[in-house]
Amino acid sequence: GAEAVEAGRRAYELDRKHVFHSWSAQDKIKPMTILKAEGSWVWDGEGRKLLDFSSQMVNTNIGHQHPKVVAAIQQQAAKLCTIAPQHVNEARSEAARLIAGLTPGDLDHIFFTNAGADAVEHAIRMARLHTGRYKVLSAYRSYHGGTQLAVNVTGDPRRIPNDYGDAGTVHFHAPFLYRSQFHASTPEEESQRALEHLETTIQLEGAANIAALILESIPGTAGIMVPPPGYLEGVRELTRRYGIVFIADEVMAGFGRSGRWFAINHWDVVPDLLTFAKGVTSGYVPLGGVAISDAIFDTFRERAYPGGLTYSGHPLACATAVAAINAMRDEKMVEHAAWLGEEVFGPGLREIAGRHPSVGEVRGTGCFWAVELVKNRRTREPLAAYGGSSPEMDEVIAACKSGGLLPFANFNRIHVAPPLNISVEDARAGLEILDRALAVADRHAQG
Ligand code: PLP
Repeated sequence: GAEAVEAGRRAYELDRKHVFHSWSAQDKIKPMTILKAEGSWVWDGEGRKLLDFSSQMVNTNIGHQHPKVVAAIQQQAAKLCTIAPQHVNEARSEAARLIAGLTPGDLDHIFFTNAGADAVEHAIRMARLHTGRYKVLSAYRSYHGGTQLAVNVTGDPRRIPNDYGDAGTVHFHAPFLYRSQFHASTPEEESQRALEHLETTIQLEGAANIAALILESIPGTAGIMVPPPGYLEGVRELTRRYGIVFIADEVMAGFGRSGRWFAINHWDVVPDLLTFAKGVTSGYVPLGGVAISDAIFDTFRERAYPGGLTYSGHPLACATAVAAINAMRDEKMVEHAAWLGEEVFGPGLREIAGRHPSVGEVRGTGCFWAVELVKNRRTREPLAAYGGSSPEMDEVIAACKSGGLLPFANFNRIHVAPPLNISVEDARAGLEILDRALAVADRHAQG
């Protein structure tokens, strides 16, 4: 109603006056006000309803305001809001049990953090202590978080202004057939050549210096490049052979996003460490963590782990995780996400690609899809240069919003990443809005 809109206006004024926004030139942004959110829907500052195809930061996997999870937070708040991390608390023990049951292999020990970036920081710290080595390998076209080391292993332009060259990080090219660095023309070729390139990188950097290799099981923000057959198995084999700790970053791809509990479950691969955050609580309360293998756990049986935080295993966050995981399981959200990928998003997006000259490629799995927009299908020139936006992309995003869809956009891509429990009708309706909005992109496309 009018009152809510007025409250939103006041919030906007105060925001512009007092709030400092992430990743932004403060005077160049016009943030959207959200008055409320429910399920797959959000209401903007004017009270307009938008279908959330972004899941915000690709984290509200159970949708907004899931009643069982809201109730669990209320119950935990009434019972025990917080307690120091050295004490046992029921919520943390149960969250750890549930997560250990979902992670592959022997990743049965859980260290809780506040979010994804600090999970990555701790995973690398564990790997360095476990191996006695320093360097960390990571992929170009990746994102691992905004804190110092996490942004240094990140392989997107946000690293560059934060890179002082002293973090021991080395980047390599992971497979990306559509923009292959390896002149490959098939997924098998891309996989094999990317592995050769990785092995060469390891040898040239000196295996004896490399503590860890961190890789998103399916790179998210960088473009949802589902690894080709054999790649992750090959990474596992190389890291084992050279004594390098393999960290699978499942912060975005995990907790059902890809149609499996963890994206790595699409392959028969067990990493040494696995980082998670986002979907573990659907962001209702911040939480992240590292799942640790037996071998790395053994390193810290007699030797103290030199790391910690006030809120490691925060009861409110852990109770949220327990409720979110149980809701996902009871309501078969992961199965639903897989089904939507197979039956709705895959076929629907391929049809869209067939109709629009501006669509270079669609790719993904589950509720995790990228639409790669190009000016020219033949040259694959992107609709926005790598690392930036463009007036053309801004137009497409504006057309989505005016059509009633909130998209996730990155450079020249629109990602389709709705809540895993989005209804089939809403999923189809969202695709129709996207379809219409892409007419705007077509005007800038040839070939
Ligand atoms: N790792 C991956 C793969 C991510 O996508 C993100 C966030 O987008 C992070 C790490 C960092 O997580 P957070 O923003 O919770 O610190």
